[in-house]
Amino acid sequence: MTTLANGTATLGPITSPHSASAALRADDQPRLFQRVREQMDRAAEAIDLAPEVRKILASPACEVSVTFPVKMDDGRIEMFSGYRVQHNNVLGPFKGGIRYHPDVSIDEVRALAAWMTIKCALVDVPFGGGKGGVQVDPTTLSRREVERMTRRFVYALGANIGPGYDVPAPDVNTDARTMAWIVDTYAATLPPQERYRALAVVTGKPVSAGGSVGREKATGQGVVDLIEMWAPDNRCKISDLTYTVQGFGKVGSWAARILKDKGAKLLAVQDATGAIRAHAAEGLDADALATHVKKTGGVAGFPGAQAISREAFFGTEADVFIPAALEDQVTAETARLLKVRLVAEGANGPTTTEGDAVLTERSIAVLPDVLCNAGGVIVSYFEWLQNRGGAAWNAAEVDQRLKEILERAYARTKEMAAEKSLDWRSAAYAVALRRIEQVYAERGIFP
Ligand code: NAD
Repeated sequence: MTTLANGTATLGPITSPHSASAALRADDQPRLFQRVREQMDRAAEAIDLAPEVRKILASPACEVSVTFPVKMDDGRIEMFSGYRVQHNNVLGPFKGGIRYHPDVSIDEVRALAAWMTIKCALVDVPFGGGKGGVQVDPTTLSRREVERMTRRFVYALGANIGPGYDVPAPDVNTDARTMAWIVDTYAATLPPQERYRALAVVTGKPVSAGGSVGREKATGQGVVDLIEMWAPDNRCKISDLTYTVQGFGKVGSWAARILKDKGAKLLAVQDATGAIRAHAAEGLDADALATHVKKTGGVAGFPGAQAISREAFFGTEADVFIPAALEDQVTAETARLLKVRLVAEGANGPTTTEGDAVLTERSIAVLPDVLCNAGGVIVSYFEWLQNRGGAAWNAAEVDQRLKEILERAYARTKEMAAEKSLDWRSAAYAVALRRIEQVYAERGIFP
């Protein structure tokens, strides 16, 4: 195994014989990670961040790259590639999801890990930034193949994950069931006397298998809480808002279902299967759409809606657009099509640098990803605390504590934006970087 270390983290031993090199592949140009660095640089300039902190955050602390064999249903053996990137852990154990997608690359995982560092620091939960992924289209595998692949990936990662060291969670194409397989596999690698601590190796587990109530909806809940904070600051009420959503998976569908309860109106949705717009004035029923997606795998063909083009989707007139799918969706081109007042980023990295410039030029407000989708990691933190303390919080307690943390992060971002005349993305980064700088100043650098 090769690791790239900047000295802020230590790497546990690898237990699998299938660990491979983490060297940068030729096709993995550092495009997304470069964007994160530029975003960090802009904020660092604005607050005159200590140069050594900038230097430390410019590269991940550790990168693990594995290739591993999986037995397919027909007896064939297929090889898979996966990554775990641990960006920074000065605030606490590395934390971040695991994604299954054909476009997963070391550059993408590296960027996603760095965004987690910023996110955790911004909302002030004691975690660092990590992320993982396997390069695979899981829709081409059977459920049992996905299970064997998951278990084999966890085995390949070995001691590179652990309850006090690096704690994964669900992301694109992974869910509570995936997390349950991870706990089970991780536990099997521990001596029997230590298995009790396996539960906290991941968050986002099924509630019946050690998960927290409220985790499944937490990211969507956070998106809605933040829109609800933004609304009065912009002379509107959440119940009067209209909105569109890209991606109707865990984040998008929960955000839409909670917004429905608040009285907001869903006008159009796009996912990997197509785009639809409401026929009727009352908009799309988010709950019925979620049921349809569960049954069919996507929004296409939803009764009571008309299929529309990608351009028509982006051009739908609404108050809020919620990207909740993948990176690079709000580009210079699509940002020009948008007819909204606010982009509330449920996804990580949905807006390109050029897209950001167009949104600013057109005075479209942005609730940036590191703030807007932080509800997931906050409730993951609650789950981790419950697992370690043998406790079970109730739904009201989870929702209340989540809201309080988001209110503080929203207020800090708003204050920083006003104080330094920054856009909200840079302001959010500035708050996070100050937090990290403070810890380095107090702790110093070993030795
Ligand atoms: P998911 O797998 O549950 O859903 C992904 C959705 O994106 C699906 O509806 C899929 O059809 C859609 N999609 C995929 N490709 C698309 C394309 N080309 N165009 C339009 N739609 C497309 O994933 P999720 O967990 O909801 O994650 C969505 C985003 O939110 C990701 O950026 C993820 O990193 C981010 N996020 C997730 C969490 C979480 O708790 N799950 C937390 C924070 C951030």
